[in-house]
Amino acid sequence: MSTTPTPRPNVLAIPAYVAGKPPTPRPGLTSYKLSSNENPYPPLPGVLEAATEAAAAMNRYPDMGSSALYDALSARLGVPTDDLAAATGSVALIYQLVNAFCGPGDEVVYAWRSFEAYPIAVTVGGATSVQVPLTAEGRHDLDAMAAAVTERTRIVMVCTPNNPTGPAVGQAELDAFLAKVPQHVVVVVDEAYLEFVRMADAVDGLATYRAHPNVVLFRTFSKAYGLAGFRVGYAVAPGPIAAALRAVSLPFGVSHVAQAAAIASLEAGDALMERVDELVARRVDVVARLRDVGWELPDAQGNFVWFPLGERTPDFAAACGEAGVSVRPYATDGVRVTIGEAEALDRIVEVAAQFAR
Ligand SMILES: *Cc1c(COP(=O)(O)O)cnc(C)c1O
Repeated sequence: MSTTPTPRPNVLAIPAYVAGKPPTPRPGLTSYKLSSNENPYPPLPGVLEAATEAAAAMNRYPDMGSSALYDALSARLGVPTDDLAAATGSVALIYQLVNAFCGPGDEVVYAWRSFEAYPIAVTVGGATSVQVPLTAEGRHDLDAMAAAVTERTRIVMVCTPNNPTGPAVGQAELDAFLAKVPQHVVVVVDEAYLEFVRMADAVDGLATYRAHPNVVLFRTFSKAYGLAGFRVGYAVAPGPIAAALRAVSLPFGVSHVAQAAAIASLEAGDALMERVDELVARRVDVVARLRDVGWELPDAQGNFVWFPLGERTPDFAAACGEAGVSVRPYATDGVRVTIGEAEALDRIVEVAAQFAR
């Protein structure tokens, strides 16, 4: 018996979440934050008004069943409300899924490097991470991931587009993968950057979920919709899986303000698509300019670009910082830069031109 209160052993093994840093202010230079894949735009039309009005009811608990949000999502997506589970960002859904489906020693398979919340959520839940290396192009190696499934596997995460490297999986390769994974394993398609995808054979998440009793979609209002600060995401899942996700959620997690803002954002679809198209145009332009000066970059399908810098990662991040732009370095793997303000992106291209190989 220990003499002090001791958390479960897995708690001591939880890796720290490294959040994107704010820029260091530079005299005479507007600084920009391109380190967290945030949306550079102000709230969509009607959203601030809806959120402000909702804030007036802060003495009341939110609707625990998120019913108005489920109704709005159900109408928009054409899925039954029973197949929806809202959460405080789709990060929370990862924790909930592990909590609901994994016991000690159960395995969660995912690509690596990928979203850094995965290893944290898996460890918090007392499960075991099985990380399958990305290909040299920063893509999911779906054959290797299927081969990594054992009788202990409960969940496989497919992050598409992959954060932080950028490529998305195609429908044909996803279908071939799903045919190989046993149906008692939950396959998550994490579509946090869905709206930014522009490729042939793009995944149709809803059709895929309809065709498989074990496929779950994770989506978020944090990226394209620009509600990162309000914490709201949702799962689209076969009824029993959605019910399990709701059952393990914290009561009243998604605030009334967040629910109202999410609903209003769904109603601003045209303005949303205009902004997303503009960000995609900037992405295409930035990638073209970087390739012109010699950069070999993976396919960028999200609102970010990946620089595979290896040992030069810290130096590049520091140079961007000197130019007044914070970016997201990953150890000695590379740097992820969010597609944000045009002025900030111009500075990144300039810095990158000097680093060109
Ligand atoms: C940003 C992100 C999420 C969602 O984050 P929330 O703000 O918690 O909704 C989920 N998955 C990936 C891969 C992301 O990059």
